[in-house]
Amino acid sequence: MKTHTLLMPLDMHLHLRDGVMLENVAPLSAYSYSGAIVMPNLVPPVATREDLLAYRERIMAAVPNDYFEPYMTLFYKNYDKAFLESIVDEITAIKLYPAGITTNSEGGVSSFDIEEMRTTLETMSSLGIPLCVHGETDGFVMDREAEFMSIYELLAQNFPDLKIIMEHITTKEAVAMLDKYPNLYATITVHHLLLTLDDVIGGLMRPHLFCKPIAKRPEDLDALLSVALEAHPKVMFGSDSAPHPQHKKESCGCAAGIFTAPISLQLLAEIFDQFDKLDNLQAFVSDNAQNIYGICPEFKEVTLEKRPFLVPENYSGVVPMFAGEEIGWAIESVD
Ligand SMILES: [Zn+2]
Repeated sequence: MKTHTLLMPLDMHLHLRDGVMLENVAPLSAYSYSGAIVMPNLVPPVATREDLLAYRERIMAAVPNDYFEPYMTLFYKNYDKAFLESIVDEITAIKLYPAGITTNSEGGVSSFDIEEMRTTLETMSSLGIPLCVHGETDGFVMDREAEFMSIYELLAQNFPDLKIIMEHITTKEAVAMLDKYPNLYATITVHHLLLTLDDVIGGLMRPHLFCKPIAKRPEDLDALLSVALEAHPKVMFGSDSAPHPQHKKESCGCAAGIFTAPISLQLLAEIFDQFDKLDNLQAFVSDNAQNIYGICPEFKEVTLEKRPFLVPENYSGVVPMFAGEEIGWAIESVD
């Protein structure tokens, strides 16, 4: 049986939510990942020291028996220098959402006025705090990410020492930016390495494949695969696993988000194996992130095996991607 072992897998973009949902989903990530960048878009968003430390404690309480580091993030707003200096050791990044663009982002940035943002972003540069960005405008849904490229360029040019992570990229335009600016990096999800818009709405509408940014065109999928499979040193795996209760997905107002946390490593192994690139998976799922963020995760060794795995219909009421279907790889052991 073909196997493949990964060391210290990292999920560099994860939604753990809060309350009962947190208790249900956090153990699934903690089982197979050494750590994850935890998104701050709770209600209200994580934007104070007290909220951040309390959220970290709730996460640790939800994963009592696992080695798992929640890399904490603050919700971007303009913070003063003294505050950022006081919290730099508690956070791994700050996450910027354009206002109203996705789940719980109402308090995000509504205009990208560089001068208004300068103090915060320059302080982040000098303290070495990366800026993670949900890069979409409020334009036509298929064009939102490509339209955001000019804002990435503005940020990259004005703050050359700031590490800017283009989160969950979905387009060939975003892929092209990686080699244009030394301070632009990216995360890529597993679902965007599998889907185009056709899979979501080309036949019957598939609510569990509906997410933001929406899956795009075949040429975008090809561009994403090209940098992921080669483990381009500026790209990292970030699942954007985004659990919603089943009734919020299977509803007349379907919430955006795909739940992949319990199957993401298996799917990655399947994709990289299909393209005969398994040797690059370690860099994509851990080494690149360690280099970019300068982090040293807890030791964890995950061995995957090439055998059919039947994806459960749901995990505590959350329906995962490929629920009830067979995928090609399974987790064999975690040490
Ligand atoms: Zn997200």
